[in-house]
Amino acid sequence: MSRPAGRGVWLALLLALAGCTHLTPAQRTQLHLWERVAKRVTAHYEVSAVTFLVGAQDGPGGGAVRPGGIITIRPDMLEPLPAGQSRDFLLAHELAHWVLGHAYRRPPDEAATATWEVEQQRRELDANAEAVKILAVGWHWTERRAFFHAHAYLWTYRRGVVARQIGVPAGHPPDPCVEINDLIRHYPAYRDIAENCPSWPEPRWVEHVGRRESSLSAPAIDAR
Ligand SMILES: [Zn+2]
Repeated sequence: MSRPAGRGVWLALLLALAGCTHLTPAQRTQLHLWERVAKRVTAHYEVSAVTFLVGAQDGPGGGAVRPGGIITIRPDMLEPLPAGQSRDFLLAHELAHWVLGHAYRRPPDEAATATWEVEQQRRELDANAEAVKILAVGWHWTERRAFFHAHAYLWTYRRGVVARQIGVPAGHPPDPCVEINDLIRHYPAYRDIAENCPSWPEPRWVEHVGRRESSLSAPAIDAR
């Protein structure tokens, strides 16, 4: 059904696609669900279908999209979560990179590194914004619900970074607040359910985080 895009890490550490014994039944169920959603999204955008590869990957990101529409996902990203939580934003964000054509960006040469980093950060922000639309298309959510999920996900991500539980994935803005505030700027209609994030250094962040914890039950975890 699929084949690794290249040799190396992926060949060595992989893989679990449909029917593979390395996934637990619960992980397989989640993978199948995401495959169905991805099909719906790529059909809607009229882009090529994607293929999932599940396996370990370097760095703090939970997923990535690679040339050819290969979406790589860490197995723990398919683990069940408590009721009411999901990692759907993770998939929506990777699908956003795909539909926006980001998977074909080449790594920079040495001289272009600084420029590439700035451009890549812009692409991450664009993928967050598009992910809201993808959540609406793929999961049949209202845009408002999709925004709420994305916003809550980014706040959870930010809390994880502040608490040093997770790292900032390569290419993302070093300050997760940049991602939150950019998402809010993209969707001004939902300011009533949004909270701006104080950029670092921010001595009062504990207070802000505390308020979020009490007001949001929402989604879970992890970087993209
Ligand atoms: Zn990304």
